[in-house]
Amino acid sequence: MERVLLLTHTDVDGLLPKATFETLNAVQTAVEGLDQAHFTIGIIGRDVQEAANRLAGFGAECIWGVSGPEFEHSRYATDASAAETICRKAEATLVLAPATSRLARILPGVAYRLGGRIDTHATEVAVANGVVRIERWCYRQRMEVRMHRTHRPWIITTDPGSLKPRRSRPGSVQIEFLSVETPEVYRRTKTIGVDDPPEDEQTIRSEASLLFVAGAGWTKPQDDGKVHAKRAEGIILDFLKKSRASLGCSKSLVDIRRDGQPVLSFLTHMNQVGQTGSTPRHPKGLATCCHGEEPHVVGWRFIDERRAINLEANCGWAQGKADVLYVADAFEVMAKVNQLLKEESEAPARADAFEDAPLKECVGAR
Ligand SMILES: Cc1cc2nc3c(=O)[nH]c(=O)nc-3n(C[C@H](O)[C@H](O)[C@H](O)COP(=O)(O)OP(=O)(O)OC[C@H]3O[C@@H](n4cnc5c(N)ncnc54)[C@H](O)[C@@H]3O)c2cc1C
Repeated sequence: MERVLLLTHTDVDGLLPKATFETLNAVQTAVEGLDQAHFTIGIIGRDVQEAANRLAGFGAECIWGVSGPEFEHSRYATDASAAETICRKAEATLVLAPATSRLARILPGVAYRLGGRIDTHATEVAVANGVVRIERWCYRQRMEVRMHRTHRPWIITTDPGSLKPRRSRPGSVQIEFLSVETPEVYRRTKTIGVDDPPEDEQTIRSEASLLFVAGAGWTKPQDDGKVHAKRAEGIILDFLKKSRASLGCSKSLVDIRRDGQPVLSFLTHMNQVGQTGSTPRHPKGLATCCHGEEPHVVGWRFIDERRAINLEANCGWAQGKADVLYVADAFEVMAKVNQLLKEESEAPARADAFEDAPLKECVGAR
């Protein structure tokens, strides 16, 4: 009989990361699909009571807690010991955890300590004929793999954004606290503060409803034969500020920095989407001045609704992979979008605002 453990931690606000509720979706699928599985929850954090109360409605047989000031911040030695202690106490055969940066860094080591196995980046968990299987993407999101394991314990981390979060009414739960040894040597690494860029400089926003992808066209000579990189910067930053969209870019756009060509100063390889970049998950995507196969085929893999603006009606990737291709000048369109957003500044992010913009032609694709 499987013993399923949901393993998670609190955030600095003492509550649970959203990804926990997504992993709960997988946990419930596993527990409901299995015959008489046990289900428990383990939480690590400074104070885990409020977080545990949020999980009151999910029917866990027991909620284990490891708490105290030494578990407030992410730290390999203390977190790994806490997770190992919870897994052993729960006698977990199947451990499901959200792939937050805090858990992703410790769980491979925890799997080793437990003599278990780990699979990361799961995007789905299912049960068929009493067998738990997971799905994940391989070869930079080009192939979908379904797999199962007989080895136990089996630790599975689910990718944030890939499953629908499950919520229930908070309640009041009793936690069974576990004590974990934290010798001085475990506590050598100390968090002395968090140095975050100001919100306006933070262009990667994983929770945003829109991904705005900038391609190298923004820094290419335009109709007048000149490059307008500064104007492009202004338009893009203005749009990001108004729409709260997340900024992705093609590889070419960041690579040209090396070649001494005009660049958009706020872009780094962290923004890059595609085979050698990231494959973010946002409900909507808008690619601008972008031709490349990788950003369209791989970088957009998990975007639900995709649109592109390109001067080139024959841009094969934009036509083949975007739901709507606007054949138009992105400088003009985005300036108009910014103007519309300014006029309706009280409205939330409007991914569809550019429908009113000066489009030369609109080609439906897919
Ligand atoms: C092994 C390998 C891995 C790679 N991995 C990645 C990856 O992970 N991610 C990635 O992005 N690339 C990757 N690439 C590069 C990729 O193949 C493309 O070369 C690259 O994505 C092209 O970038 P781009 O579309 O921004 O620029 P370009 O190909 O230069 O396209 C610019 C586009 O802008 C349009 N344009 C210009 N001005 C305007 C305007 N005013 N309004 C509207 N449109 C305009 C043009 O019509 C053109 O279509 C990889 C390549 C290789 C070989």
